[in-house]
Amino acid sequence: MAYEALYTRGRPKTLSQLIGQEHISNALTRAISSNRLSHAYLLVGTRGTGKTSTARLLAKAMNCDRVHAAQLDGRPLEKKEIPCNRCESCRAFDTSPDNVEFDAASNRSVEDVTRLLSTAYLAPLRARVKTFIIDEVHMLSFEAVNSILKLIEEPPPNVAFFLATTELNKVPMTIRSRCQVLNFRLIPQAVIAQYLATLARRLNVGLQEEAAKKIARLAEGSMRDAMTYLDQCYAMADKEITLENVNETLGLISDENLDEIISAVKAKDRAAVGRAVTQAFSSGLAANVIAESLITRLRDIEFDMLERDEKNFAELDNFIDALRKSIGEMFGSGIPDIILEMTLMKLAAPVQNFVMTTPAQISAPPNENLDAGQKIFYHTANSLSEDKSLSFALSKAIVTKFAGDTLTLGFKSAAIANEFKKSQTQFEEAMAQSANRAIKISVEVDENLLPPAVNNLAEPARSNLVSAMKFFNASDVMKISD
Ligand SMILES: [Zn+2]
Repeated sequence: MAYEALYTRGRPKTLSQLIGQEHISNALTRAISSNRLSHAYLLVGTRGTGKTSTARLLAKAMNCDRVHAAQLDGRPLEKKEIPCNRCESCRAFDTSPDNVEFDAASNRSVEDVTRLLSTAYLAPLRARVKTFIIDEVHMLSFEAVNSILKLIEEPPPNVAFFLATTELNKVPMTIRSRCQVLNFRLIPQAVIAQYLATLARRLNVGLQEEAAKKIARLAEGSMRDAMTYLDQCYAMADKEITLENVNETLGLISDENLDEIISAVKAKDRAAVGRAVTQAFSSGLAANVIAESLITRLRDIEFDMLERDEKNFAELDNFIDALRKSIGEMFGSGIPDIILEMTLMKLAAPVQNFVMTTPAQISAPPNENLDAGQKIFYHTANSLSEDKSLSFALSKAIVTKFAGDTLTLGFKSAAIANEFKKSQTQFEEAMAQSANRAIKISVEVDENLLPPAVNNLAEPARSNLVSAMKFFNASDVMKISD
């Protein structure tokens, strides 16, 4: 026997099995018990929330012999009796020519729809009530809507309409106002997970709690989607459906991998971000799927934080916003992987704190040492101005560095440097007196030597000044200092 899809087998057989829509099953049970059913229902809700299943249950119940008997006796019915599924009418329902179902979204011609609707004027062949179940009613053509409208306004005897839609705003007001509206809710994740566990028991397969939760979260309130996912995982699993099975079968990124990426971003650890993203890519997932999974995971974290009454969401919101933006950029870009990687790397960038300049820092600029070195140097040089040969050598020297207790003097000419070296010890002693501490001198020779003040200029000012200095051979300019 061919395998029957879960979502066909998992369909509710009675109102008591309608999962997650208790407000509807309760109201319908009361209406059936007191024989106050309407002849036109508009079933509104997201896909997979039970609209068509409910329509079938109602259509069946309207024809159920036992329901009918209870109504005649004035006996209140229980949900599990609606319908009975055992009487002749119930057993014949699935193949009954008196139940007409069609999906307005599929490509039916206007003629087809009109012909089907025209049978409403014919008496039912065997059933008590002739039933029409029309899915995605908002997709019907203008003519078809008008035919339905006529039928609902002046209904032929023993006809009932069940119009299902995912988009209430596209259903004309004229239809809405003539129908009893049933609003289907998204089914809570916990309810879906619990029902999946029941189904797994029926399939005689184990289902990890975490796996059930993951499928339920993925189904986003749709029981039909949840059952389809479970079916797919069941086909691939052995004796137990594990979280790993779910991730593999449905092509999902594991929570551990997601958490790794999130923790790495939070820790501003770019290397770890790179490793975690590479791992995600290596499992063959598309960048947008990873980004969407990250957003879902971050939303879960946000909900957890809300439950713990935490209030600082700025970092999370920033993370989610950046991912959302990156998904937008990915479409049609050709480099979605790089976009995701760059987004995460940017998020993991170290925080650039702006430090307000304080007076203490003004008195300690980065070139403090050089300035101090120059001051000591010129002060000492002036004190030795009587020594002509030394003065000449000093006039050609440039203070290029002053670090620790070493002052570096630069000369363009080796000869002048040697001239200076003759008096180096004398100069060092004089400098120790000026500075009140011992300072050594290191001599360097470089014919292209420039004073630091010139080196610090922005281009093209620096090049212009260097050219000018060469042109004039103005060694004295070398002494300029700001
Ligand atoms: Zn029955």
